[in-house]
This record gives sequence, structure tokens and C-alpha cells, in this order.
Amino acid sequence: MTAADTPSPNSSESHDALRAWFLGPRAENADLLERVIVEALRDHVFWRRNYHPEDGFTIRETDKRKPGYENAVSTLTQELMGLLAELKRGVPFFSGRYRAHMLSEQTIAAQVGFFATMLYNPNNVSVEASPVTSRLELEVAAQLAGMIGYDPAHSWGHLTSGGTVANFEALWIARNVFYLPLAAAGAARDLHVDLTVALPDGTTAPLESLSLQQLLNIRTTDSLELWDALWRSESHERVTLALANHSLSTVGYQDYGRRLALDYGDPLPASVILVASTAHYSWEKIIRALGIGSNQIVRIPVDNHFRLDTAALWDTVRSLSKRRVPIMACITVCGTTEESAVDQLDEVLAVRARAATELGVTFHVHSDACFGGYAAAVTWSADGNRRSAADIRASSGCDWPSELWVRAMTALGEADSVTIDPHKLGYVPYPAGAFLLKERRARELVATDPPYLAPTAGLDSAEDLYLGRFIFEGSKPGAAAAAVWLSHKVLPLNETGYGHLIEQTAAGARRLYDGLYTADLAPFRVVLLPRPDVNIICYLVHHPSLTTLDAVNAFNERIYSLMSLEVAGATPEYIISRTRFQTPMYDGAIATLLHELGVCTEDDWKRAGSDGLVVLRSTVMDPFLAAPPPAPDHIAGFITALRHACDAALG
Ligand SMILES: *Cc1c(COP(=O)(O)O)cnc(C)c1O
Repeated sequence: MTAADTPSPNSSESHDALRAWFLGPRAENADLLERVIVEALRDHVFWRRNYHPEDGFTIRETDKRKPGYENAVSTLTQELMGLLAELKRGVPFFSGRYRAHMLSEQTIAAQVGFFATMLYNPNNVSVEASPVTSRLELEVAAQLAGMIGYDPAHSWGHLTSGGTVANFEALWIARNVFYLPLAAAGAARDLHVDLTVALPDGTTAPLESLSLQQLLNIRTTDSLELWDALWRSESHERVTLALANHSLSTVGYQDYGRRLALDYGDPLPASVILVASTAHYSWEKIIRALGIGSNQIVRIPVDNHFRLDTAALWDTVRSLSKRRVPIMACITVCGTTEESAVDQLDEVLAVRARAATELGVTFHVHSDACFGGYAAAVTWSADGNRRSAADIRASSGCDWPSELWVRAMTALGEADSVTIDPHKLGYVPYPAGAFLLKERRARELVATDPPYLAPTAGLDSAEDLYLGRFIFEGSKPGAAAAAVWLSHKVLPLNETGYGHLIEQTAAGARRLYDGLYTADLAPFRVVLLPRPDVNIICYLVHHPSLTTLDAVNAFNERIYSLMSLEVAGATPEYIISRTRFQTPMYDGAIATLLHELGVCTEDDWKRAGSDGLVVLRSTVMDPFLAAPPPAPDHIAGFITALRHACDAALG
């Protein structure tokens, strides 16, 4: 069954629109892009011409005849030609022959939105420097929040330079919320105020009666209630001072532990961060940078679909609870960087709920949806209702997505924080990441200048537009916000826009997967990972003459170098990437693969240590692969190219 057999109401319209969204692999829409870019430039010129026309002209026509002027123009023209020539040594992300990393084409809307706004160069650190684009940024964040199921009235979000910074902010806020009850308890003691707080099992208790362990297991909402109650209890000045004396943000880890040992007769227990084994390496950077220390990372194994193993998560939570180790946060992934695996977030949240009632333990749940987040657009119909998995499958024309997948995506609305990169599956230019926070109040815990402010309310508060108070970055491009904003206008975050785009991309990935699955490369054999949750296909090639893990690795490494831009002097027909599955991160997923290969045991693989298993990896970002035009056939072309590479790699 193909997409054309079962059209949903909007699918044929979206099918046609898709052809207008991009410049196209052969620049088929060059006239369109040129028209809108020139329009943006001319319009900007009109603005300058009409801005205080009485000012006269600073650069005069006669200036343009001077040798110095002419030389400067010649240098510009010459050097630009040099740059343009150099740029062609870049990577052809736009082509159906690029099947490697999660890099792609950009929408025309995003390109022209960026270009037009760049001429005005707004700085979204503060509304004074970006009266227009700061608003667009908040609008875009609210759209993304709506897409993942957050209530726009209570959530908050903004754009960042990318996923790393967005993830950093998520853990920065989670860390400060985690220690908030400790700060509140200290401040309440100094101020002689009595506060009560709700515990994870649903009971309430006086704040001063709680142990260190209990204070480090308060739910986010209840911590924030405590925060509000504290501000109501005393004058603004006194609360500010009392909190500053007891907050990690002001005191810092170096002194914090020592003080708690004095106050509680107990040192600050080293709390841990649970991280899906497949998590992006930025988490390690962030955990180091926040002073938590990478020793505090507890990696949760993945299952054979490369998703966080929720049974192992429960076991870990239970054993940590027995040893009285507090859990600061659990980092799950929606679209892993290597495999596009979508963790079963609904089950992770169920583990947390069970931990609250059975163990009195709770923690912040973050979904790193930097790669996969935009796929939530497929779960929305044009009229604002959620679509079922069957509805989506009817328009994707393939067996994607599953019920489980839809459940995991729908659960995003229950995560405490979510990060999404528009510059990945949003098909917009760098730099564009997004940070989304379920409870907007929590942003107060990272506000700077002044360090502590009474809680503020209301979406329209002017303060919202002074992003710099709450974000980690300073100056940042309003052009990036405009790019995302215009792209969302042209491609709404539902089945008619991004939903269609990503559905087609995922369906294209399925076609490539099926092509590889059925390809006859004898005597070579393609060993595939399970079908991807979104659009990254991982596989390796085997040959009867290869009898050791080292030999299989070396062979696949050679295929990779023949099909990558790294090999000097040759342009590969198709471009792929590769990764390495290593122990212990991939222990839960490796058994089936090793069994299919049959050259070594799991123990051998574990002993191979850092060499692990080399796996070839193809990200399908190409939205035209699902319903290909008459030519070229990039599935057959890819398989032929892989066959040639296999022959060459063996010979
Ligand atoms: C890409 C990615 C990141 C980091 O994002 P940058 O924009 O490169 O900083 C984080 N997490 C995941 C899952 C990613 O795929």
C-alpha cells in the first residue's frame, strides 16, 4: 500500500506543498528562493531610504569613483568568489545521495526568514535590542510547547544556540529545584516561619521536621509551592537575604556540603543523574560543568530496540533508594543521536509514580528530544486533535508509527523539561535549539540580576521579553527566531506541515530499510538493527571469509571510508556515516546483532572494549525518498553503491 492509495483529507495538498518547501536537490525552486530573497533585500532598502530621509547621504555617488572605494569593491568581489569556490568543498546535505548524519536541507521559509532578519540584526537577549524578534521567539516556544502537549499558560520556553545549551539549562534548573527545599528549610529557620510541604507519598509534613533525605525527594510542583509560600511569609528583602544564605547558586558546592554537615549532622549525600545509555555526549559535559561530577552519572541500560530499559530503571531506582542515594534527575531520549530510538517515556513516568508511592522517592524527568521532538507534529491533526497511530499509518503508507511510539510522544507533555532542536528535524539553519519547561515558575531559580526576585506571573509580563534574566546565553540572533517562526507559519506543527514532512521522511527511511532488508548482496550479507523509531538506519555488512570481530570491524570500517568524504581524491556515489557500539552502554542491545553475525560471543565483544562493534549509519533527512519522482531511484542506487564498496573493501 502506498501513501497515494489512502489519502487523508490534506495529504494530497501537503504532498504538493512539500515540493514548494525546499530549494530542491537540483535547485528546482531557484526562482522562488531568488524572488523572496530579493523581496526581503529590497524591502529592507526601502526601510533605510525612508528612515529620516532629511538626513542626506553619507556615501555619495562621487565617492564611488574614488580609487580607494573601487579597490575595496574589487577586494570584496574577488574574495567572495574565492569563498564561493571554497564552499563547494562542503557537504551536499541537500542531495538524495547524502545518507549520513542528521544534517539536511533547510526550508525556504527558514532561509528567507533568517536572511531578511539578519539585515536588521536584532539581539534577542533583551526586548530593547529586538522589539519584534523577542516576541517571535516566545511565540515559537509556545508553539513547540503546544506541540509536545504542555499547557502554554503554565509552561515557558525559549530558543538557544542548540541542544547542548538547551540541555544545560534543563539540568541547571532541575538541580536548583532539587536543592530548593534545602534552601527553603534553611531560610525558614532563619526567618522563624513555619511551612509545610507535601511529600511524594501524598502526605504533608512540617518543613523543619524533614531529614536531608526527605528534603531531597520533594516533587517539583511541591518545591515550587514551598518557594511561593516562603515569599509570602516575609518581606521581599528578608527572603532574598535568607535564601541567598542557603542556596546552592550563591553558596556553591565547595561550601554547601560543609554547611549541611553542620546543620544536619550529615554530609550532603552525593546525588546521581540517571542517564539513558544512548544519551548524547553533551550530558557528560553538562554534568561536569554544573559541578555535579561525571562520577555521579548512572547509566541505565537500553533494551534491544535501543530504548531505555524501564525494568532496569526501576531496579536502579529501588537499589539507590535502599542505599539512600538521592536522584536529581533522569534523562531520557526521544530520538537517540545514533539510532533515532524513542524511549518509552510513558513507562519512565510510571516508574517515577511507583517510586513516589512505594519508596517516597522522586526526581526530575527530562526528555532530550533534540533530535526526535519535531516528530510530535505527526500526532496532531489540522483541527487540533491528536491522531491515533492507525490514522498516522494510513497517511504514512507504511507500518510507522506504532501505538507504543504514539504513547511515548504523547507523554512528552508530562516531562518536567524537554529540549528540541529546530536545526535538526525542524529543517532550519543553525543556530536553533529550544528549551521547554513545564512549570514556568521554576525559571526563577536561575534568574540573575537580581539573584532572587519575588515570583512573577502572567504570560504578558514585560519581564518575559527580557530573556537575558533567565537564560544562560547572552547575545543571540533574532534572525534564528524569525527563521523558525516563518518556517512554522508555512509548515504548521501538525499533519499538514511538519507532520507531513517528518512522516514522509520516516516513510522514506522505512523504504530504505526494506530495500536493504531484501537486497541480495550475496556473498555479502547485510545485518540490520531493528526498524528505526524515526529515520536513522544502522546496519553492518558481513562476508563468510570474516571470522573474527576484528575482521568484521575492519571490513565495515573500509566500507565506511569508501562511502565517506574523508577518503582523499574520490567523491563517493553515496555518503554514509558510522558509529561504534561499546560496552557497557550497548550491553542490552547487542545480543541479537552478535548472534546474527556469529563471529564472537558477548564476552568477546565486551573484551574488545573501546573497539566495540563498528556499525554503519544512514540518517534519512530526505523528504522525497518516500514517494520518489520517476528518477533517480536513490534506494536502488544506494544498494548498488554499497555493493561496489563491499567488493572494493574485500579486495
Ligand atoms: C544533537 C543532539 C544534542 C546536542 O545538540 P546540539 O544542537 O548539537 O548542541 C543533544 N541531544 C541529542 C539527542 C542530540 O541528537
